[in-house]
Amino acid sequence: MEENIKDEAAKDNYRQAPKTAVYVCHCGGNISDVVDVKKVAAEMARYPGVAVAREYAFMCSSNGQDLIIDDIKKLGVNRVVVAACSPSLHELTFRGVLQRAGINPYLYEHVNIREQVSWVHKADHEGATAKAVKLTQAGVEKVLRQDPLNAIRVAAEPRVAVIGGGAAGMKAALAAAGKGLEAVIIEKAPRLGGKLLELGKVYPSGEQASSVLKKFEDLVAAEKLITVHTGAEIDFVGGFVGNFKINFKKSDGGMAQIKAGAVIMATGFEHYKPHKGEFGFGEAANVVTLPDLITLLKNSPAGRLEYAGKEIKSLALIHCVGSRQIEGVNQPQADGKVNDYCSRVCCTSALYTANQVKEKYPAVQIYDIYRDIRTYGMRHEDYYEKASKDGVIFFRHAETDQPIVESARVAHTVKVKDVLTWNEELEIKADLLVLVTGMMPSDIKFLASQMKLAVGADRFLQEVHPKLRPVEAANSGIFIAGTAQAPMDLTETAAAAATAAAKAAILLAEPDIPLEPFVAVVDEAKCTGCGLCPAECSYEGALMMTEKNGKKLAQVNPALCKGCGACVAVCPVRAIDVAGWTLDQFDAMVDAIGKEG
Ligand SMILES: Cc1cc2nc3c(=O)[nH]c(=O)nc-3n(C[C@H](O)[C@H](O)[C@H](O)COP(=O)(O)OP(=O)(O)OC[C@H]3O[C@@H](n4cnc5c(N)ncnc54)[C@H](O)[C@@H]3O)c2cc1C
Ligand code: SF4
Ligand code: SF4
Ligand code: SF4
Repeated sequence: MEENIKDEAAKDNYRQAPKTAVYVCHCGGNISDVVDVKKVAAEMARYPGVAVAREYAFMCSSNGQDLIIDDIKKLGVNRVVVAACSPSLHELTFRGVLQRAGINPYLYEHVNIREQVSWVHKADHEGATAKAVKLTQAGVEKVLRQDPLNAIRVAAEPRVAVIGGGAAGMKAALAAAGKGLEAVIIEKAPRLGGKLLELGKVYPSGEQASSVLKKFEDLVAAEKLITVHTGAEIDFVGGFVGNFKINFKKSDGGMAQIKAGAVIMATGFEHYKPHKGEFGFGEAANVVTLPDLITLLKNSPAGRLEYAGKEIKSLALIHCVGSRQIEGVNQPQADGKVNDYCSRVCCTSALYTANQVKEKYPAVQIYDIYRDIRTYGMRHEDYYEKASKDGVIFFRHAETDQPIVESARVAHTVKVKDVLTWNEELEIKADLLVLVTGMMPSDIKFLASQMKLAVGADRFLQEVHPKLRPVEAANSGIFIAGTAQAPMDLTETAAAAATAAAKAAILLAEPDIPLEPFVAVVDEAKCTGCGLCPAECSYEGALMMTEKNGKKLAQVNPALCKGCGACVAVCPVRAIDVAGWTLDQFDAMVDAIGKEG
């Protein structure tokens, strides 16, 4: 009987007087080697509003979690503070614990006494302990003023829009469809395929790119859940997670609109185009790029390698053209920046292509001039070994000693200070000069600005976190697949695309999407309609002025608000607050930290 009463009370507990439990975690010595956790727990047990305070070796372990559940169920605890590691690591874990115990998961505060205390005050145990107490007290003050929030639910279109129809876009659409999700590919070119349309034999499988493409195209055509729009020119992307709208001009000139719950960016890359005169490119005859050599090889008959009507008996590859550039040495791009990143795929591709030249035309002499050989993938080093065995001659130059090309009418002379022969200056004569050009992201400035996408210093699209959230854009509902994000080969592209599709499918698995409730809320009674706050908001559509019963008011769109708090800072009458992070909560936290003793 008594149990039943407690269970009922636990369900409805936030309406009751707050009963707060505090748990201080040792983090297996990470915290307790510096902070006196027993003292923190003892201090917290005495703090007003705290019903129980405990310390434990690993709060995130199942035993640690059970401690909390027991206290909620047996003692009627209805607010919880855990002083432990970083909230990014375990805040969700503990919110889940509250939910499992039957109380509102937002009646929880996570205090970081590891990164903010024990790790940064290793030499001052007393000071660290005092700081841990203060921060935990502030956490209690915050949770005491916490409302039982509910996740915001937005209805979602059960469809993913895939922008770009190269290997990444096709793979992403197929993977999404494989999970039962409708996918729409929007491709600007007249045909699907991206760079697969250009490449010849591709590593690691040794298949022709055309047959890889054919397989993709057949699978896409056979999949009823995939719609393809080629020759499509996007002129608007708007909306938010669950409700994106993409307008585009179709190849027949008509306009179309796609509504999608999620978007996968698969806009791929462009080949670096050398500047006029860069190693003789665009000025001297017979200076081509690696993609040009791949095309030449694809189309050349057996027996004789020809370029521009002339037999090629020797060719020299120069690596890192347009990649790993050095400021002040290389000519910058239009935005003033050099491409200082490694394009990753070009070393392997150059060696793979050199091996094919050797197979088809064994008499052609190949020279390979490199700074580093970066054949990083599984068994890719084999291509380097094969090239060495088949007679490709390698020269290595230092970062600052770029090869110098002197081009005559019939042949080129490349001067290299060769590290492999103790910096001897060597001269290489070659009929054809092949610049191993790198990758640059497709020009997606328009899409990036419409969709407010983060772009890295290298101009590729940026993910939230390379390890923890590797295919997610910072904006909810937008995912990144393939070389739109960074140079990748086809294997990596396929893996990234499948991951992006899985993420989109998880997001759209339910008819509506739960969003965190930490968004701005307007107190209509206090709002004077002054209009100061929308001007501060950087998120289009998140905060607008509206009229209600003849009164001007600020109005928040919770699906678009990011909870940044910029609006809160300018309101002269404290009429707007971010739920879960209100000014009253901040005031109380600061007071707790500033209080003597
Ligand atoms: C010289 C060279 C050789 C290579 N050889 C190999 C190899 O042998 N093996 C291997 O595994 N990998 C190889 N790669 C890597 C391979 O090319 C890439 O991994 C792969 O093509 C990436 O596919 P993607 O879909 O990301 O990009 P892409 O193939 O570039 O496709 C992007 C697509 O998006 C479209 N698009 C762009 N912007 C928009 C827009 N605004 N709206 C709509 N559509 C848009 C483009 O038209 C394009 O169709 C090579 C790369 C290079 C540079
Ligand atoms: S992969 Fe090789 S050629 Fe390409 S940028 Fe990196 S080091 Fe240079
Ligand atoms: S909290 Fe930030 S995103 Fe939300 S309405 Fe205010 S300023 Fe805009
Ligand atoms: S700044 Fe404050 S008072 Fe002015 S419109 Fe915004 S919420 Fe209302």
